[in-house]
Amino acid sequence: MVRRTAKRAPGKDAVVASSIPDAVAIAGALGPWFERGHRDLPWRATSDPYAVWVSEVMLQQTQVQTVQRYWGEFLRRFPTVQRLAAADQSEVLEAWSGLGYYRRARLLHRGAQFVTEEYGGQLPDDPQALLAVPGIGRYTAGAVASIAFDRPAPLVDGNVARVMSRLDAVEDPARQPATAARHWPRVADIIAAGRPRILAQALMELGATVCTPRSPKCEVCPVRPQCLAHAQGQVDVIPSPKKRAASPKASFWALAIMWRGRLGLVRRPDEGLLAGMFCLPLVARDSMATADNSALSACLGVPVTRAAVTETSVKHVFTHRVWLLQPVLATARRKPASLPGGEALWVEAGERPRGGMPTVTEKLLAAL
Ligand code: SF4
Repeated sequence: MVRRTAKRAPGKDAVVASSIPDAVAIAGALGPWFERGHRDLPWRATSDPYAVWVSEVMLQQTQVQTVQRYWGEFLRRFPTVQRLAAADQSEVLEAWSGLGYYRRARLLHRGAQFVTEEYGGQLPDDPQALLAVPGIGRYTAGAVASIAFDRPAPLVDGNVARVMSRLDAVEDPARQPATAARHWPRVADIIAAGRPRILAQALMELGATVCTPRSPKCEVCPVRPQCLAHAQGQVDVIPSPKKRAASPKASFWALAIMWRGRLGLVRRPDEGLLAGMFCLPLVARDSMATADNSALSACLGVPVTRAAVTETSVKHVFTHRVWLLQPVLATARRKPASLPGGEALWVEAGERPRGGMPTVTEKLLAAL
């Protein structure tokens, strides 16, 4: 049953019919469009479920260009689920260094251990069985099942949600996000109307390259004849702009403490931001107003000399918070019993600890 209403296109006299576009028609236009040409991304050349899984995890919150630098190397290092499962977590975090959102790496590692123990190292093709794997949610289960196994399993991420909101002219902001219940059965119908492997990637490709957040290229869009937002002149207002809350800011001293020519790093706790990664010790500026010799001596419990605040400060933006970091270079006359913020590790100049250094540490070291 098709919903029909009538709308007047802005600036036009003609009344525009409005009906939810037919899934078969959308699939019929999208499949051939994708097969005629698309971005040549390395993970598109494989249907190995493990390799597809790794690509989908890396692509969450990370740009395609960045993932292209990591995906192949990660698979060379951990070529199978079993090899990843057997790796030490520090080895996995090291391979992930610079990709950010390190929780993904820890969950992927845990997921590989689960797949090895429960499924003999083979990812199942059933989306429900995939959902049992730690770190695999509804989107990733759909992506692996459809792209790797050609199963008609829906997948809705931000790109696909935007395409569907425009195709169906969804005006209500609450029904536009990827989590909105309305998109999933619609995408399931589209993907089931042809080859799931092709249609799943075609929807994602359309959102990434044609139906972009701003200035979508409707003139070259294969589903323009089906698109209600285009027919109704609503392309610029769907999806509705998000009201972003300002991210809270926190200010820290980032201590570069030298002792006998070595630099003190801390391995951050296993939970929370940058869990298990190596950083400079951070001290909240609220709790230490200045960073001179006496303040640092009191903070570290050993005499400190030559404390100097660098001219360059570092800003690091996480998804929901911002760190403002002021590096301080100082020399400890004795080895501190501990360093603030985690387990201490003293490294030689240029030495890189096993377990990986996040981008924020690289930025701080470059600022020293
Ligand atoms: S016609 Fe325009 S708004 Fe509609 S799906 Fe295509 S690119 Fe997106």
